[in-house]
Amino acid sequence: MRRIAIVGAGQAGLPLAFGLLDHGYEVTVVSDRTPDEIRNGKVLSSQCMFGAALQIERDLGVNDWDDVCPSVEGISFTLQSPEPGGGPLIDWKARLDRPGQSVDQRIKMPAWLAKLEARGARVSIQKAGVAELEALAKSHDLVVLSAGRGEVAQLLERDASRASFDTPQRALSLTYVHGLKEANDYARVSFNAVPGVGEYFVIPALTLSGPCHIMFFEGIPQGPFDLSRDALSPSEQLDAVRRLLRTYLPREYDRAKRAELTDAQGVLAGAFAPVVRKPVLSLPSGRAVFGLADAVVVNDPISGQGSSSAAKACKVYLDAILARGDQPFTRDWMEQTFEQYWSYAQFVVQWTNSLLMPPPAYRVQLLDAATRTPAVASAIVNGFDDPPALFPWWEDEHACEQFITQRQAAVPVTG
Ligand SMILES: Cc1cc2nc3c(=O)[nH]c(=O)nc-3n(C[C@H](O)[C@H](O)[C@H](O)COP(=O)(O)OP(=O)(O)OC[C@H]3O[C@@H](n4cnc5c(N)ncnc54)[C@H](O)[C@@H]3O)c2cc1C
Repeated sequence: MRRIAIVGAGQAGLPLAFGLLDHGYEVTVVSDRTPDEIRNGKVLSSQCMFGAALQIERDLGVNDWDDVCPSVEGISFTLQSPEPGGGPLIDWKARLDRPGQSVDQRIKMPAWLAKLEARGARVSIQKAGVAELEALAKSHDLVVLSAGRGEVAQLLERDASRASFDTPQRALSLTYVHGLKEANDYARVSFNAVPGVGEYFVIPALTLSGPCHIMFFEGIPQGPFDLSRDALSPSEQLDAVRRLLRTYLPREYDRAKRAELTDAQGVLAGAFAPVVRKPVLSLPSGRAVFGLADAVVVNDPISGQGSSSAAKACKVYLDAILARGDQPFTRDWMEQTFEQYWSYAQFVVQWTNSLLMPPPAYRVQLLDAATRTPAVASAIVNGFDDPPALFPWWEDEHACEQFITQRQAAVPVTG
């Protein structure tokens, strides 16, 4: 029986553990927090996942919240005038072909940890550093480092040829609330961009106290949407969020007038730099550790891809481990496996990074065309489930013009 250690009990590591247990591997999961600490701690993410990634969880039989988590049926996009009081310049919505879902990681990870233990995984609660990685590498055939944005992941070397930034591009703040007015027509993520200021998202989700909404600001650092500068109490953060909405996004303010915090831990504020790292860590002993998901590729959450990408990375690694059979997990094998994931993830990185920059004129035309052409809106929205499908037209002016023309010809123009 092959022994695999997974360091980091998150969105990538835990599904990998389930997949390996299903195939008879002996699995050790290392978590720096107990299930109770995760459940009672701060929110970690807005964790909205899309259809293809949710299917990976379903295939592993770990989709325990399908019946209770609000469905995300679509996405709306608004480009708001940056002038306070100015209205929307571009405004449309479209349905996802397959609904998305956001289950608070404070629910999901403790439940998965308990389930893994019940299925025979060894769960070890410790904050792994070099010494612990060495011990695991000695006693296991493979050590996977899925510690997300944890300090230990920084032992993996930054890949300067693939990483575009070395400072945070947005200041992030999450406020989990009850009582926010539902969007009309169908439940959806509402994506509001305010040029030069930042973005505001509303995400239907499931939290500890039931269905809720997540109010998520991505502020350009030091600008008005940057709520990470002052250490605000939860209620001060909610007040600040409401004030910003009243000034910049009156329509969203109207939805949020009666919003109340879900719980004292339902807020988060901070910032981090997107990064791509090399996937293999060489320990002082010469043994290798294999990085997975956010430990290697961290995107800004502006595109809502981190959790879906974690599930997709898990699937690539799981299939590669199974295909490896009894052969050793060499550095070459690790690098090849990561390249397989990168053939997908590079599009996520490219698209996500593009959202952090002012859009070129042709992309504003694309977003504007989506107002009148539902097929354009649909292609952009369903790109959240399958980012490679956004290319080449998202990044190439000529391809973009052709794409708009084709979609306009194919589908009756409305409005
Ligand atoms: C504000 C914000 C909003 C987000 N919104 C979205 C969204 O809407 N959609 C989306 O898809 N993604 C979103 N993300 C990103 C998403 O949450 C992550 O990309 C995803 O959870 C990554 O999965 P992972 O398994 O790599 O890491 P994680 O899920 O972060 O798991 C890593 C685990 O490792 C543990 N750990 C760390 N160090 C150690 C150590 N030394 N020893 C043992 N354990 C350790 C951590 O405690 C954690 O449990 C958001 C992130 C943030 C910060």
